[in-house]
Amino acid sequence: MNIQSYVRHIEKLDKRFLWHPFTQMKDWDEGSPVIITGGRGSFLKDINGIWYIDGVSSLWVTVHGHGRKEINDAIKEQVDKVSHSTLLGLTHPPAALLAEKLVKLVNSSLVTRHSSLSKVFYSDNGSTSVEIGLKMAFQYWRLKGIKGKKTFLSLENAYHGDTIGAVSVGGIDIFHKIFSPLLFKAYKAPAPYCYRCGLDRRYPSCKLLCLREMEKIMQKRHGEIAALIIEPVVQGAGGMITAPEGYLKGARKLCSKYGILMIADEVATGFGRTGKMFACEHEGVVPDILCLAKGITGGYLPLAATITSEEIFSAFIGEFRELKTFFHGHTYTGNQLACAAALCSLEIFKKEKTLKHMQRKIEFLGKALDRIRDFPHVGEARQRGFMVGIELVKDRNTKEPYPFEHKTGWKVCCRAREKGLLIRPLGDVIVLMPPLSVSYSELKSLMRITAEAIKEVTG
Ligand SMILES: *Cc1c(COP(=O)(O)O)cnc(C)c1O
Repeated sequence: MNIQSYVRHIEKLDKRFLWHPFTQMKDWDEGSPVIITGGRGSFLKDINGIWYIDGVSSLWVTVHGHGRKEINDAIKEQVDKVSHSTLLGLTHPPAALLAEKLVKLVNSSLVTRHSSLSKVFYSDNGSTSVEIGLKMAFQYWRLKGIKGKKTFLSLENAYHGDTIGAVSVGGIDIFHKIFSPLLFKAYKAPAPYCYRCGLDRRYPSCKLLCLREMEKIMQKRHGEIAALIIEPVVQGAGGMITAPEGYLKGARKLCSKYGILMIADEVATGFGRTGKMFACEHEGVVPDILCLAKGITGGYLPLAATITSEEIFSAFIGEFRELKTFFHGHTYTGNQLACAAALCSLEIFKKEKTLKHMQRKIEFLGKALDRIRDFPHVGEARQRGFMVGIELVKDRNTKEPYPFEHKTGWKVCCRAREKGLLIRPLGDVIVLMPPLSVSYSELKSLMRITAEAIKEVTG
């Protein structure tokens, strides 16, 4: 088969047999897909041999770039030993070695005063890491003999994954509303979305009124609330919403004050994405439960970890017959290949001082964003580290959004693709999230293409 008929063949099979995530398949059917066949560094290659900058790290996961020799080798080495064995009743070196590394990393990164995080519970994706956190928090209070705490507090605009528990604590109407009859009850506190403040205030004169609103709910409902679940510093899928300084720390204080556990969902923000290893570090916050996934394997393989405190873990310890066991587990929990990749990724962080080298790139990215901020249809350009959201609006003065059906964000990303950059929007928020290993010249191209695409689409 020659290359052109092979391309047509793959496209035909895709359209006949595949159902893509978060995709209106009618639109998909009408378009022509980019078929990825290779990757190196910050680039992905399609079946026609065209290279694109991977501007969103393959949906927020790639850390040290594609095709990193060390990670490839680590996986190959593990493949030759064994690829998978269960953690139900057995263990294996990569899982144990990685658990130690994760606990050390978390405790050296997060300033610890009273609490520390000491036990790793593996699963295989971000949603499951969240489900586990929620179920652990719930069962913890039951085991402590406190029966009333059977609901959760989360934020508007929150995204914690797509399984039913994670959706129950989600706050993005266009994704979550349809499922509302299936969901359990969760209280919602206002999002720290300063650009569109639901309380109609301005930071810092607001003195974080959104936290006061959170406190009102806690005051009234702490007897019912097992945990607050929160995306520290940046609400990712909600539109790269960056919380103002002091917000996370304030939320932590409120949790302690009202006897509510804090679950930090660092699935997106973890592993350097915000410029620190974990976003909680920005405010010296230690959660009771920490959810990690996306970047944990450097973006190679599915793996997740829910890390919890000794206090929570010890509540589950008892005699077999007491049924204090945490009855939860996924078949591929702590997969050997994934753990081997994760161990290697952490080595690279250390060896290459990834976080240190990132700092100047973050500034560089910030300066490039300054030039976009003046565009007539850029409402706000938000950045924390390598997490960027450029919110496009119809009218900058009134902040009026473009009509939903105009698909403005989507059009910008299509235009960027024609210019050699793969990005994916969140509504009309253009998301940029390059691999941490991105070079200055790649960052420059990324920003040039993004600016051009925005200009051309928004006129
Ligand atoms: C992506 C994401 C999830 C869900 O992770 P999956 O691996 O897609 O299930 C959960 N929380 C946050 C903050 C995320 O960004």
